[in-house]
Amino acid sequence: MAKWIAGVDIGGTTLSVGMVPVAGGRPRALRVEDTPGRRGGEEVVDRVCGMIRAAVDELARAEGAGAVVAGVGVAAPGSLDRARGVVLESHNLGWFGLPLRDRVQAATGLPTVVENDANCAAWGEWWQGAGRGFRSVLGITLGTGIGGGIVMNGRPFHGATGAAGEIGHMTVEYGGRRCTCGGRGCLEAYASGPGIARAAAEGLGGGARSSLAELVDGDLGRITAATVHEAAVGGDAYAAGVLARAARMLAAAIASAVNLLGPDAVVVMGGVAAAGDLFFDPLAAELGRPRFRSAVDACTVVPGALPGTAGVVGAAGVFRLRADET
Ligand SMILES: [Zn+2]
Repeated sequence: MAKWIAGVDIGGTTLSVGMVPVAGGRPRALRVEDTPGRRGGEEVVDRVCGMIRAAVDELARAEGAGAVVAGVGVAAPGSLDRARGVVLESHNLGWFGLPLRDRVQAATGLPTVVENDANCAAWGEWWQGAGRGFRSVLGITLGTGIGGGIVMNGRPFHGATGAAGEIGHMTVEYGGRRCTCGGRGCLEAYASGPGIARAAAEGLGGGARSSLAELVDGDLGRITAATVHEAAVGGDAYAAGVLARAARMLAAAIASAVNLLGPDAVVVMGGVAAAGDLFFDPLAAELGRPRFRSAVDACTVVPGALPGTAGVVGAAGVFRLRADET
């Protein structure tokens, strides 16, 4: 009887691997490493496979005969062919048509499934985190980009191409800022980490006064969402205003998505969500404004409960789900 699943989260900046109990629970033998630089993916795949082997070995040392591993679930960024486990296109990692599932299977000798990273994070929070006990959940990851995943009636919802839930590319300002996807006015262009940094730098370039300029020694190109947060925590009204505007943009997208899907809960995850009250208070205030309300009123918006591990837990959960189905 297999008791463990290796959960893997491949991000643009970090790689995470942990051993997750089949019945659910915290990942064990967790390891996190920086993602090696762009080299067409080979180095990243080798590193991930090495981390999986190391985690399996660590578990075996701790658990002895109880360390039976059923397989590997991998959360990968970009567009995927889930059935074949191929990453079709991931610009961050330089992967185009990479047969990730087969590569991991060959290197570890374990059956492997591959799923979109935001879908994994949403599934992880629904299975073991802040979304537990709800029937339908919209999970949103705020970071370098903005991703989303949908759990509908206790099942992952993929849509026709597997790309459903991409709330980062919902239009929040028609004809607005250029987005990485090529479109204009997407949520990601405003409320992602780089979107927040850009808004702060633009305002300072336009003459706004803030302690932010000193924090980065006058080099506006060094502003990040983290420095904006740091300034806001220090009482800087301008920085707090920049965060609040991003939160209001997010609230507009959440309200639209909630009216469309009617989930019981929205789970907000990722680095930007770590801004806490400075982000969640304006978000809640904006969601409380008059609008078409019934779906919004019935829905709870909560921060994720698995910081740093939602993808690892969710990837293992996706492996478990697909093993049950076959
Ligand atoms: Zn976009």
